[in-house]
Amino acid sequence: MSDYDYDLFVIGGGSGGVRAARIASQYGARVAIAEEYRYGGTCVIRGCVPKKLFVYASHFADEFADAAGFGWTVEGASFDWPTLVANKDLEIERLSKIYVTNLEKAGVEVFRSRAEMRDAHTVELISESRKITAERILIAVGAAPYVPEFEGSVHAITSNEAFHLDQLPQSITIVGGGYIAVEFACIFNGLGVDTTLLYRGEQILRGFDDDLRNHLAEEMAKKGITVHTGAHVESIKQNGDHFTVATDTGKPFDTGLVMYATGRWPKIEGLGLDNAGIEVRDDGAVIVNGFSQTNVPNIYAIGDVTHRMNLTPVAIREGHAFADTVYGDKPTAVDHDNIATAVFSQPELGTVGLTEAKARETYDEIDIYRSVFRPMKHTLSGSDEKMLMKLIVDATTDKVLGCHIMGPDAGEMAQILGIAVKMGATKADFDATIAVHPTAAEELVTMREKVAG
Ligand code: NDP
Repeated sequence: MSDYDYDLFVIGGGSGGVRAARIASQYGARVAIAEEYRYGGTCVIRGCVPKKLFVYASHFADEFADAAGFGWTVEGASFDWPTLVANKDLEIERLSKIYVTNLEKAGVEVFRSRAEMRDAHTVELISESRKITAERILIAVGAAPYVPEFEGSVHAITSNEAFHLDQLPQSITIVGGGYIAVEFACIFNGLGVDTTLLYRGEQILRGFDDDLRNHLAEEMAKKGITVHTGAHVESIKQNGDHFTVATDTGKPFDTGLVMYATGRWPKIEGLGLDNAGIEVRDDGAVIVNGFSQTNVPNIYAIGDVTHRMNLTPVAIREGHAFADTVYGDKPTAVDHDNIATAVFSQPELGTVGLTEAKARETYDEIDIYRSVFRPMKHTLSGSDEKMLMKLIVDATTDKVLGCHIMGPDAGEMAQILGIAVKMGATKADFDATIAVHPTAAEELVTMREKVAG
């Protein structure tokens, strides 16, 4: 047993930190964890979970409209934002408690305090003015929204505040073109808010396959979202109960609320990383090796604070791998290749593997299979929303390099496709798989015509 108060001290009670603490404790380590806000972290408290609940809420408008074609009359439907917020808060409270219970059951000492590093083996619990020593420290503090500074930027809210608005605005302008901007634009639009998305680049969702980006932008516009690309905000001015946004394109316009979703940066401010000599990149990301170890050998970092791939399941895997490596005698490096991901836009996106552009850069010859079609449900609903499926195949080895889907349940499909792509499935394997009929996903195993080579 070491002379330190604990074998491991985890700073940050989000998905990654909690997983690492629990598994390390189950391996027999003496573990403590500190969280300054609420256990559950970004994903549970102000990210994936409440966002997905809002996504469900925002789908009903389309569902009610679709119902008519199937013979239903939905009369007097109305939406109450405070009810949604209150019910969401109850669910988050429930989940946060489960996180704490699971930590306690695993024998982890749980602190509710901000923790800052004083040296490579000492953290201070700020609310208790108490110093604690540990043989190892794990930094799992996540990231926080980044808003650039410009005239009036203080008026912009971020996704943090969007979860707690007292009332829905009549109109909103969302700045950014990544996951959060796109998802929230669809949420607010679905809830009846007049929504504008402003993005600085040529097309939203940089890094995703171009077909998905273009088709999603079209579908969002069809649903009534104003998507302005190539636009930079110059100022935001408050005028009574609304805001005037000036951009470098077109005239200034009025909007009920401005939300910035321009990335999330590692939350290292005031953490005392310097006291321990921990190296960070210019963007604040803690630098780690494949085993999540920093330049200070007894200090590790996982999740968004390392800015590798900012996704909850990745942080969880990194936390688990850290515990296996250090306390379970099972050295495990996390493989960040071919991680499936979804954007809960409307329609939804699901994707795994290389985009067409990336595959063309990397491979000599690739084949593209693509299908754009109207899902069966919309034959009666009357909606003209399209579904898109695309496979990128290495023409030399026949290996499927990427799968990209836009449409209902695309995220669910991406999860399953992730297994096939991770296993190195070939197009011939896809073709040998008999379809499940009638589904949309059957298209994935029935596409035979190459659309491009
Ligand atoms: P992203 O990094 O996905 O997107 C940031 C967007 O903001 C990009 O479009 C970027 O443009 C733009 N941007 C950056 N800086 C500026 C600036 N100074 N002025 C104007 N625009 C700017 O970040 P998000 O905030 O959307 O999400 C944060 C992270 O959270 C993501 O990386 C994602 O991993 C995770 N997340 C995952 C979700 C999921 O799995 N469904 C859901 C929500 C979040 P450009 O493209 O030109 O750089």
